[in-house]
Amino acid sequence: MEQKNITEYSINYEIKDHPSVKGLQIIEGKSNFPISWLNKQGYCEYQLYLEHMKGIESPSTPEMTHGSAIHKQLEDAFKQDAKKVSFEQTMEESKNEASMSRECFVVSPNNGIRGYIDEIWMKPEEIVIIDDKPGRSPYESTMNQVRAYCLAFKDMTGDKRKIKGALRERGTENLFWIEPFTEDVEKQIKFTIDRMHGLFDGTKPFIPTRNPKKCHSCRFKHDCEHAQ
Ligand code: SF4
Repeated sequence: MEQKNITEYSINYEIKDHPSVKGLQIIEGKSNFPISWLNKQGYCEYQLYLEHMKGIESPSTPEMTHGSAIHKQLEDAFKQDAKKVSFEQTMEESKNEASMSRECFVVSPNNGIRGYIDEIWMKPEEIVIIDDKPGRSPYESTMNQVRAYCLAFKDMTGDKRKIKGALRERGTENLFWIEPFTEDVEKQIKFTIDRMHGLFDGTKPFIPTRNPKKCHSCRFKHDCEHAQ
């Protein structure tokens, strides 16, 4: 597959920072959160409260630092070889010839989500959206993250090709989970995204985990009144 470095987009939305929730934006008049927050929500919703509502800062864990370093290496290597193109051109050309891109930005003002897809394969017959993760276990939180990328891509492009979401073991070619983005999957992820918006607009409570093992490894445990 030809490697294409997507550097331009024709979208031009009105974007503002949310006045009180750190990292939340208002895009086209609606709250919009980074899709990676779904991963935190699956771990413990109270982490979202501490980090983004209370603004508590906490150092990255060694796992996070290591993950970011591998991620950057892969991205730098990709950029050296890839041709620079626009998102729209990549979409159009992929209807005839498959291509692969990394760090592909997607945004859906309708659903209030945005983020960067680690890797996307645009093929004439289908789109495959891949997120790199440490380990080989698909968790609900990581699957939800990929489902949200699929939703944002579908809403942003209106493309009619089949979409698949996949998780890959970081630094390898091992796709250890792959799922077609069906109507049922779309309904399910929209429900979770609605819950996230409910947390930030104050209509739903941030529920702390009851799993002491999660608290033990949590980088906010010293600031959390629910730590077990
Ligand atoms: S210490 Fe436990 S309850 Fe508190 S934010 Fe961390 S994981 Fe959640």
